[in-house]
Amino acid sequence: MPVAGPKRVILAAPRGYCAGVDRAVIAVEKALERYGAPVYVRKQIVHNTHVVSELEALGAIFVEEVDEVPLGSHVVFSAHGVSPAVVSAASDRGLQAIDATCPLVTKVHREAVRFARDDFEILLIGHDGHEEVEGTAGEAPEHVTVVNSPEHADTVEVRDPEKVVWLSQTTLSVDETMETVRRLRIRFPHLQDPPSDDICYATQNRQVAIKKVATGADLVIVVGSANSSNSVRLVEVALEHGAKAAYRVDYADEVKQEWLDGVETVGITSGASVPEVLVQQVLEDLAGAGYRDIEEVRTAEEDLIFSLPKELREGRGTGGRASA
Ligand code: SF4
Repeated sequence: MPVAGPKRVILAAPRGYCAGVDRAVIAVEKALERYGAPVYVRKQIVHNTHVVSELEALGAIFVEEVDEVPLGSHVVFSAHGVSPAVVSAASDRGLQAIDATCPLVTKVHREAVRFARDDFEILLIGHDGHEEVEGTAGEAPEHVTVVNSPEHADTVEVRDPEKVVWLSQTTLSVDETMETVRRLRIRFPHLQDPPSDDICYATQNRQVAIKKVATGADLVIVVGSANSSNSVRLVEVALEHGAKAAYRVDYADEVKQEWLDGVETVGITSGASVPEVLVQQVLEDLAGAGYRDIEEVRTAEEDLIFSLPKELREGRGTGGRASA
């Protein structure tokens, strides 16, 4: 049985809420205040179990598709964005839509529209079936092919190799995406890059921070939900950058006692859809297990705030609250 040395925690920063998640959650809260319960939300507003259940308790009803929403009701589109087909379906039902799509996802939609208009074939790097990928691909279904992985880059076919551009989901691993692009470029030397980074600032910042923390960690705990792409990527990035073990948990009580066996240094981070209170609960439990020495390692400052969706701006404050 290994003998553990001094127990300590290294807390990654930035972690937790990004500007797009903050805005989307406030949008549902404001919609409930303004219109009263229930307010319908298509898909999970953000991919976090705790956030969704808190909003349900306030009167939000989460549905999979707009045809489940009663005619004429208010419906919020999630931070991951929607395709034009969903916007039309909501309009056909006379729904009053509030679009909480993160502006950084909307930026990728605009790129897809623009490149499709110029008759490019768009290789959209991302996870097939993820809501964001469905929304972006839905802007130009005839022009988009989803590339799921670096291996897929070796086999994907295009119509005209002279006219190909790559775009990506906002919450991918930066390193893996660059590997996918490297392999695509071997096959398609004329491959164009997106006009600016599609992987968003929050995803990148959280990955940079966990890389630094993981190097010295026996164990990394990522707080975040299983369907949160950026949270799952943080586990992978931690393992690739030196963490001896890394696990994802929704809640503190999911941390298993045996994970801590022989562990001196625990690294902690959280995905972009995770409220800080959930991280603090993990820290409290770790303190109970003797990990009271906490050092924060910060690799970037974040002060981005997005204004609320236009449907909620009038007569209200326009900004989100400060990000964690
Ligand atoms: Fe927007 Fe990035 Fe946050 Fe997604 S993770 S909501 S793209 S800021």
